Amino acid sequence: MKMSDEGFLRPVAQAEVASETDDLIAQVCPGAVVQIDRHDGPFDADWGPIRELATGHACDPEMRYQGSSGGALSALLQYLMESGTVEGVAQTVIDPGDPVANTSQLSRTRDDILRAAGSRYAPSAPLERLFELMETPERLAFVGKPCDVAALRAYARHRPEVAEKFPVVLSFMCGGIPSRKGALAILDKMGVGSEDLSDFRYRGQGWPGKARAVTRSGEVQEMTYAEAWGDFLSSRVQLRCKICPDATGMTADIVCADAWYGDERGYPLFDEADGRSLIIARTELGQNLLEAARSSQFVATQPATVQDVGLMQPYQARRRRLVLSRIAALALIGRIYPRYRGLKLFQAARRSGALAHFRSFAGMLRRSLTKRTALSR
Ligand SMILES: Cc1cc2nc3c(=O)[nH]c(=O)nc-3n(C[C@H](O)[C@H](O)[C@H](O)COP(=O)(O)OP(=O)(O)OC[C@H]3O[C@@H](n4cnc5c(N)ncnc54)[C@H](O)[C@@H]3O)c2cc1C
Repeated sequence: MKMSDEGFLRPVAQAEVASETDDLIAQVCPGAVVQIDRHDGPFDADWGPIRELATGHACDPEMRYQGSSGGALSALLQYLMESGTVEGVAQTVIDPGDPVANTSQLSRTRDDILRAAGSRYAPSAPLERLFELMETPERLAFVGKPCDVAALRAYARHRPEVAEKFPVVLSFMCGGIPSRKGALAILDKMGVGSEDLSDFRYRGQGWPGKARAVTRSGEVQEMTYAEAWGDFLSSRVQLRCKICPDATGMTADIVCADAWYGDERGYPLFDEADGRSLIIARTELGQNLLEAARSSQFVATQPATVQDVGLMQPYQARRRRLVLSRIAALALIGRIYPRYRGLKLFQAARRSGALAHFRSFAGMLRRSLTKRTALSR
């Protein structure tokens, strides 16, 4: 995976790709296809398979503080390791040589998991070392973006040993991957040169926590989450994420998100508060894991309803409902787009009115024709 001029990680062929490998890529790459084979819980048109819905947080106060939301994902990972369910976790962590970027890590201790906690709104490729990981003797948990998880599940359909290697797969709701240029623009606004940077956090250390840059001389610059995401990152999200029908991680065993508190109109507030994750157990395995982590006091939870999730994550529901009209615009002008199977997009689309569909269709058409967006293979 190499950083493109636009600031996204893209696969680069290092040798000629055999045609059967090319076929396999076409069946696995989430830029080409996203598929849900089966689900073992009730399926909600907006939120996908649901076995259990809760809000909650890590019982370990440091994990709750360091975590992006309530540290629930990290706490579940710690439980998985300490209970012996897995021996390690394949996850994404800050790149020590480039603090705005991500790298992959095989975590084996609580401290490793704590170091990886918190969201980094920058390109990541947690599957780039998959073949290396397949050679290790241990069973591992995997955490990645919804598209990483969909790719891992798709690859496991072709290589069953992948499912044995990764018996538990976790994810988070994803608003999309911003270009690396988003983080550089934040640094620019803070007046910090990337050559002066010694540490950078997108958020976490509180909920939602601030974007925080520390220079080599120890000077600290901060920016609120609302400003960092709203003014610098969200506008630099790649096209593939804007037409993602699976940004809520429907193929994971458990998915976590921000359990935002809303204002009187139901729109999320980003005021600082004690961390709170939204937790959706999607499979029987995920539900059992959540139950076990709760009774062993790794996570504390409260029940939630589908209506609660709609108030916490209105943007996710809106995007999923409008994916079909956006794709229709791309199809009309002959642009490529991924194939989606088993994702019940028509059910989701029916929840939006004709005017919203028309606007999203026209907006995508306009942006595509003015070449401000393009999906590249
Ligand atoms: C790019 C991105 C977009 C997001 N968009 C939304 C959104 O729209 N709505 C929402 O509710 N939540 C979103 N999240 C998720 C949210 O920020 C929290 O991760 C989630 O609420 C779980 O919080 P937690 O405290 O339980 O997780 P933590 O305990 O903090 O664990 C976070 C986990 O995410 C992994 N991780 C961090 N950054 C990346 C990355 N770039 N790629 C792959 N893995 C990573 C870490 O390795 C860690 O395992 C997004 C996260 C990312 C990285």
